[in-house]
Amino acid sequence: MRRLLFALMVVSCATCLAQPQAQPTIKDFIRVQSPTIALEHVRVIDGTGAAAKADQTIVISGGKITAMGNAGVVPVPADANRMDMTGDSALPGLVGMHDHLFYIARPNLNASKKSEEPLLTPQMTFSSPRLYLASGVTTLRTTGSIETYTDLNLRNAIDTGQLPGPHIDVTGPYLDGPSFFLQEPFLKNAEDARQMVNYWADRGVTSFKAYMFITRDERLKILVDRLPNGCVVIEPDHMANYRWDRANDPDAGTPLVVVRAECTDHVQVAVRFAAEHGIPVVPRGAGSGLSGGSSATDGCMVIALERMRQITVDPVTRTVVTQPGALNAEVKAAAAEHGLWYPPDPSSFEICSIGGNVATNAGGLCCVKYGVTTDYVLGLTVVLADGTTAKLGGARLKDVAGLSLTKLFVGSEGTLGIVTEVVLRLVPAQRAPSTLVATFASLDSATQTVLDITRRMRPSMLEFMDRTTINAVEDVTKMGLDRSAEGMLIIQSDEPPGHAATEIAEVTRLCELHGATEVISTDDVETGDAFVVARRMAIPAVERKGSLLLEDVGVPLPALGALVRGIEAISTDRGVTIAVIAHAGDGNTHPLIVFDRTNEDETARAQLAYGEVMDLAIALDGTITGEHGVGRLKKGWLPAYLGPDALALNHKIKNALDPQGILNPGAVYDRPSTLDQLSP
Ligand SMILES: Cc1cc2nc3c(=O)[nH]c(=O)nc-3n(C[C@H](O)[C@H](O)[C@H](O)COP(=O)(O)OP(=O)(O)OC[C@H]3O[C@@H](n4cnc5c(N)ncnc54)[C@H](O)[C@@H]3O)c2cc1C
Repeated sequence: MRRLLFALMVVSCATCLAQPQAQPTIKDFIRVQSPTIALEHVRVIDGTGAAAKADQTIVISGGKITAMGNAGVVPVPADANRMDMTGDSALPGLVGMHDHLFYIARPNLNASKKSEEPLLTPQMTFSSPRLYLASGVTTLRTTGSIETYTDLNLRNAIDTGQLPGPHIDVTGPYLDGPSFFLQEPFLKNAEDARQMVNYWADRGVTSFKAYMFITRDERLKILVDRLPNGCVVIEPDHMANYRWDRANDPDAGTPLVVVRAECTDHVQVAVRFAAEHGIPVVPRGAGSGLSGGSSATDGCMVIALERMRQITVDPVTRTVVTQPGALNAEVKAAAAEHGLWYPPDPSSFEICSIGGNVATNAGGLCCVKYGVTTDYVLGLTVVLADGTTAKLGGARLKDVAGLSLTKLFVGSEGTLGIVTEVVLRLVPAQRAPSTLVATFASLDSATQTVLDITRRMRPSMLEFMDRTTINAVEDVTKMGLDRSAEGMLIIQSDEPPGHAATEIAEVTRLCELHGATEVISTDDVETGDAFVVARRMAIPAVERKGSLLLEDVGVPLPALGALVRGIEAISTDRGVTIAVIAHAGDGNTHPLIVFDRTNEDETARAQLAYGEVMDLAIALDGTITGEHGVGRLKKGWLPAYLGPDALALNHKIKNALDPQGILNPGAVYDRPSTLDQLSP
């Protein structure tokens, strides 16, 4: 289908024309957000016939335009003052420059590569020197009257059909206008804008889109004005707190802005603003994630939910309505006040948010008996990519009306929407558990014991630590763990006392059957807690040994032994330490690859091992992530895990819900830029 969208709007400032300013170069005012605009999709065409300046060049390397400025190798042709950007390159591009008049086009995101027509989303031209020198600008809006500020070259070009008409897009809200329009020097008022539109309408134009070229600071001021004091953070030092999650990805970028939302409305305002300006959005809970899912990207807007912490428990329906920033531990505590319990218990429960738990479908230690986050999510309020809000589900235990959209958002890692409210199911408070700890001289004995336990009963906890982890934890706790053991199991039963005693006796028998070197059990809650705390601090304890690459691979239970042995072999082959902890009863392991980031060779070997562990899990019919999410660090392995059909389906859903691709881009998968790429 032929689509031709092009607008050219002229705004020139009479004052500026009267006092010409120093000529800026293209580089002065354009920042090409995407450094890769395929050359084959770029065509320089003649616009108004004015000559380009000698210093205007396009830098091309590897078949891509990588920069624009005066240091390049391919000069803009002398007759060029407009350049078509067609195809699927995703971001604004320079059209051209003539005198102090610029022409800018943006590729149509839906354009087919194969189309022969230039598919342009219109931008604008203008002549304010103040605007020329703006940097970091990606969005343009024109206002003002074309009658007042006409550039004859342009008008003639359009009138004589040299410029691709017939459409000019002007986005509605700007016309009736927020007040910031009036702050722009070239803007008179909304009436001017109407006149401009009328001008084009008289020439057959049927739809309009207006842009204004604004600086980074001007742009951010718009956002600051729309939100209460303190919500918008732009100070670099303050923003640095929002760059990394606990994966400490060295490639984390620098945000353009951080929005510390206090309610759903704030999130909506922020997302709408981001959508208007094409700014990528990274949702952030408490930043305890281990896969880089909430680490910032350059120029992104981090939407931090940490201030949204209201919790309301309804003991009658046994539900809790909570804002996403509430910590898991805070929700548990609120439920406990009513004799109720929210079971999912990531080891990080004291430092992770419910929103993050929902977004990653977090698991934890008691999930072996009580299930993971999704099993407790009854309803969600989600702000979608265009800023609209969807309320899904509610405090109903049964509800099969419509598609299971609530489930779709659980585990979507901020790529489909931002969760601003969660309705969770609660259960009666857990009984005080009995705890058993067993150590094994061999890994195989430990993993075989796990299988024997899970085929007979459902303990409320079944955790594993290997020798490296035991030693790291012992270094910190000095609680007398057996440093020579190859494996240690921590098992709990929360059955009623009599039954718990039977379960613990049976587990003791199985451990001894498999040659456990030591088995101790206790009904004393404090003593039991001490072992659980030891398990919970395994990651921080291993973290003290060096930089970590954290895995989260899971396999069907019978393959647990093969997985753990295989990880040991990878560790030996690559010469890197890999500590293994596991929610063993779920077949979900956390191999922690320890390395020295300052040692290039070791870092490279650690990265190889990282991939090999995931390859191994896939080969064992397992998953690359059981609970931490794909994030930015594991996305390279997602295609192999999902296979082409499921991957294509993922992309189709993502494209349907976030056509602009602004929600957490680069997390989970890289979005294909054309629908063609969706077909397996
Ligand atoms: C010591 C330690 C132990 C851990 N143990 C476990 C464990 O046992 N089980 C487990 O599952 N995890 C564990 N984790 C990982 C981590 O705590 C979980 O993944 C947790 O769910 C992340 O929550 P968060 O609030 O910190 O989210 P963040 O790290 O801020 O974000 C995680 C992801 O969710 C998205 N996100 C966050 N909030 C929202 C929202 N409101 N709407 C949409 N998207 C959002 C982010 O964009 C990102 O993709 C552990 C982490 C540490 C440091």
